[in-house]
Amino acid sequence: MTKVVTIGEIVVEIMAVAPGNGFREAIELVGPYPSGAPAIFIDQIAKQGQPCAMVSCVGNDDFGWLNIERLRQDGVDVSAIRVHEDAVTGSAFVRYRTDGQRDFVFNIKHSANGHIGLTDEARAVIASAGHLHVMGSSLVSPGIIEAVLFALEQVKARGGSVSFDPNIRKEMLDFAGLRAALDTVLAQTDLFMPSGAEVLLFSQETSEDAAAKDILARGVRAIVLKQGAAGARYLDGEQDLFVPAFVVEEIDPTGAGDAFGATFLAGWLAGLDAETNLRRANGAGALAVGRKGPMEGTSTRAELDAFLAQQVSA
Ligand code: ATP
Ligand code: MG
Repeated sequence: MTKVVTIGEIVVEIMAVAPGNGFREAIELVGPYPSGAPAIFIDQIAKQGQPCAMVSCVGNDDFGWLNIERLRQDGVDVSAIRVHEDAVTGSAFVRYRTDGQRDFVFNIKHSANGHIGLTDEARAVIASAGHLHVMGSSLVSPGIIEAVLFALEQVKARGGSVSFDPNIRKEMLDFAGLRAALDTVLAQTDLFMPSGAEVLLFSQETSEDAAAKDILARGVRAIVLKQGAAGARYLDGEQDLFVPAFVVEEIDPTGAGDAFGATFLAGWLAGLDAETNLRRANGAGALAVGRKGPMEGTSTRAELDAFLAQQVSA
């Protein structure tokens, strides 16, 4: 089976209990929860039974070990997660706004994540990987960009494949190196998984449909457009299909895109047909939104199969 590697941030997430606007007042918080988009993604990859590893860095503190132990337990190769003695584990604070949008405060750049780079352990897991997944939101530190570009070259040179989820948050757009890195990654991408309108950041076209077709024409093999509670669309050179999401109560949508994307990637690597695969990925997204905490909503293959079986008989 193909080993999947991803490179990027690990954080703990601390969440405001009540919705509101930002963090400029004293409010009740819950957490810490293991988090970081690439960490959630790789946790779901492992739970789906796919061999995988993560390149990252945490501090030698409770927040760091909380994450490492969770990933290890769930089956991720954590040998390239560096434990840095002079840095602290990153954190992200999230608060839902009353309109359902989210406010984030990130402490990533000045945390252990700023020390992610090409260690010997990172080179070793990259050398063993047949697939690289890139989270665009991770491309905000020079060390991560360098490691991702190195991994892109290595994995592609040996005939491996690349998937890419931009996962852009508005808070990140002012990082100077981000734009060039995103474009370089897209040019090497086989499977592109943006959420909805994000696709417009990668084309001169003004509709999602035309942008997706333009990107396929430029050499990306397949695109999955995540559309939140509506569902998801799949396009490649031959097929164009939409599968609606499952109707569930949304408790915490953070991490749904990562659980969805990882499940779709595992199916894609296994050669599953696009319609079956979208349904499975939608199922993983539905399970993810039903649980509070970003990584708490990841699901094993057995949990996902049980959920999907229930939907058929309902
Ligand atoms: P994030 O980056 O916040 O994790 P995203 O924008 O990458 O999210 P979404 O489109 O929000 O990804 O969600 C991914 C998938 O999860 C959707 O395509 C859908 O299958 C499922 N999903 C998301 N929200 C809901 C919901 N409210 N009800 C059911 N399924 C949902
Ligand atoms: Mg996302």
